[in-house]
Amino acid sequence: MDAALTEEINRLTSLGLHRRCVEGALERVAALTLEINRLKKTRNAVICAHVYQTPDIILGIGDLVGDSYKLADDCRKTAADEIVFCGVHFMAETAKILNPDRKVYVPSKNAGCSLSEAITAADVRALKAEHPGLPVVTYINTSADVKAESDCIVTSANAEKILRKMYAEHDKVIFIPDRFMGANLAKALGKTPGKDIILWKGTCVVHEHFKPELIDVYRKKHPGLVALAHAECPSELIRAVDFMGGTGDMMRYVENSNAAAFLLVTECGFGELAKLRFPDKNFIAMCRLCPYMKSITLESVLALLKDPAPEEVTVPPLIAARAKVAIDKMFELAA
Ligand code: SF4
Repeated sequence: MDAALTEEINRLTSLGLHRRCVEGALERVAALTLEINRLKKTRNAVICAHVYQTPDIILGIGDLVGDSYKLADDCRKTAADEIVFCGVHFMAETAKILNPDRKVYVPSKNAGCSLSEAITAADVRALKAEHPGLPVVTYINTSADVKAESDCIVTSANAEKILRKMYAEHDKVIFIPDRFMGANLAKALGKTPGKDIILWKGTCVVHEHFKPELIDVYRKKHPGLVALAHAECPSELIRAVDFMGGTGDMMRYVENSNAAAFLLVTECGFGELAKLRFPDKNFIAMCRLCPYMKSITLESVLALLKDPAPEEVTVPPLIAARAKVAIDKMFELAA
């Protein structure tokens, strides 16, 4: 076997990736990661990997790894000429808005998002006309067009903090597009949907389907279990768990807790990553796959690096400039 391939297999093994590969699969993964990492250097490209990607992408080729907020923040500081975004399209648009002089690519045409697709710029303009004077606080899972109509962007990592600051200046806000996250935040802030916070009807196809009654089943089966759920889950589910937050918050919670077992109620890639990061902790599976995130594979990243032009992400300059004002407001208020 080629010495470089052997070295790559050893590197992936040291990261724990052999534990998720069937017989012979690690060699195939290593051949792909080796070629991708070589091409990445040649092109001076950086690979952003969202925590919902598979571990072979996150650990094998990812340079910047994290949730939407961390990736958006990290992208601003990269010196690379090109950004390959292993995440969904709205995240790559955000990277492009923050890095107008760099080429940004997504290695899949199917990397959409049900939340992002739930609302258009025209919908936001209609909401603003219906509720004149209210600030529009927008979850980052939206298109650049929608961000351009917004006053401030938030992520699950900073939404509560930013909304508190918004409420210091306003009695009422518009929060789009996730109705479950909006309702969960309203509860945490002591606000009433419809009265203090205007919500939209968007949902995440992954998080909306978790069943709250299953949490008790798991608790009975695994004494000492701590249940953590993403803020995009319905309120009945959130009432049944011990902790609600974004993926960054959930990872920190796991790191700092000695609980007997962790139930991670979110996309499956996050649980896989947690298991590799904390091999001595006990994780119970209650997860669902995001079809958009999982449309990206090592093969699609390699194909992109060989011929990136068809996958370039662009944002019209006027839209980008307006969206950037709302994104910058997030960085200011989240600081
Ligand atoms: S998990 Fe949900 S919110 Fe995240 S990209 Fe998939 S559909 Fe969108």
